[in-house]
Amino acid sequence: MKQKENTPQTMKRHRDHMFTKAAYDPLDTRHHGAIHVPIYQNSLFAFGSYDQFEQAMSGLQDHHVYSRGNNPTVSYLEQKLADMEEAESAKCFASGMAAISSAILSVVGQGDHVVAVHQAYGPTREFLSTYLSRFGVETTYIDGGSMEEWRGALRANTRLLYLESPTTMLFELQDLRLVAGLAKEAGARTIVDNTWATPCFQNPLAFGIDLVVHSISKYIGGHSDCIGGVVLGSKALMEQIASTEYMLLGGIMTPQTAALVSKGLRTLPLRMRRHEESGLQVAEYIGKQSFAARVNHPGLPGHPQHELAKRQMSGFSSLFSFVSNEPREKLKEWAGRLQYFKIAVSWGGFESLVTVNRLGAGKEEQMEASVVRLYVGLEEPKDLIRDINQAWKDA
Ligand SMILES: *Cc1c(COP(=O)(O)O)cnc(C)c1O
Repeated sequence: MKQKENTPQTMKRHRDHMFTKAAYDPLDTRHHGAIHVPIYQNSLFAFGSYDQFEQAMSGLQDHHVYSRGNNPTVSYLEQKLADMEEAESAKCFASGMAAISSAILSVVGQGDHVVAVHQAYGPTREFLSTYLSRFGVETTYIDGGSMEEWRGALRANTRLLYLESPTTMLFELQDLRLVAGLAKEAGARTIVDNTWATPCFQNPLAFGIDLVVHSISKYIGGHSDCIGGVVLGSKALMEQIASTEYMLLGGIMTPQTAALVSKGLRTLPLRMRRHEESGLQVAEYIGKQSFAARVNHPGLPGHPQHELAKRQMSGFSSLFSFVSNEPREKLKEWAGRLQYFKIAVSWGGFESLVTVNRLGAGKEEQMEASVVRLYVGLEEPKDLIRDINQAWKDA
């Protein structure tokens, strides 16, 4: 199957069609017409004849034999996510990091070179820098906003261009179509961490990207109750991952988690529309406050890559940050006074969250400045704005 290409029309259609994709399943008569996928709490599956057993063993990917390879509840979720991301195939993992490390390991080998965005998720960077370096894999970090940077970082042995668009502290984008094109010329593969945008708002495969990874622990799960990850791509690349990294490293998703995530998935498009609207409202409000020197939200017209954001995403999620020159202690006190925003890592659930961080290393400007990351949950945005305002007045 040839990968479909993104156009403004297909992106709009995809955005609307997501509701049906999430809500609808064809009738499955194998389970008495059960409307929700049953939880197959099984390690193994038995066969009626030795012929059937041998047939299954010769095509492990397409049969349920042992749950480290395939489990029907997990397969259901994989099919659903592949459909939403417009991928041929998907594999679900125990965590976002299990998915990311497996995807990277499926591409690079000893002595290879990787180009990655500087602002990629911390543990991903650590995996590349301190773990893979033990096996002779070298990584060059770039901001990733200009094609000159990507081109300039390429070497003869570059095998992987690793992207995260937008990044999730400073919300910087990369041009997915152009980087995918450059990688093809250079004989390298591309992986994009698409966790921020979700399959609802961005489909990197249709820009020519090879593999998409998501942390399911964020919006896809959506209820702060699951840890999981997924890798999506062509049938050929995914078969490779399924038979190698999935089977050998064994970082599988359990059927219990798959069932919980499948339930969360029903409302993903609905939640994302609400998050989009509320996130923009709160970000616009923050943009007018004197304590915010700059707001980092790709959906605001003032974002330096807003045009690119509109070109490659059909919507915006609700995690964003603002830079502040107020004393960090004062910002932390303010965060502690917030009622609706809880102080915690992660994001993507129903509840609003806040963290106060140092402005990222490697950025010379305003080293003293702080980056406050806000996650806008499903509460009423007017309540959230009132909360932010009151907590600041009392500061
Ligand atoms: C959380 C996160 C991950 C890692 O996912 P886990 O499920 O926590 O392993 C990867 N990328 C991004 C952008 C994330 O926010």
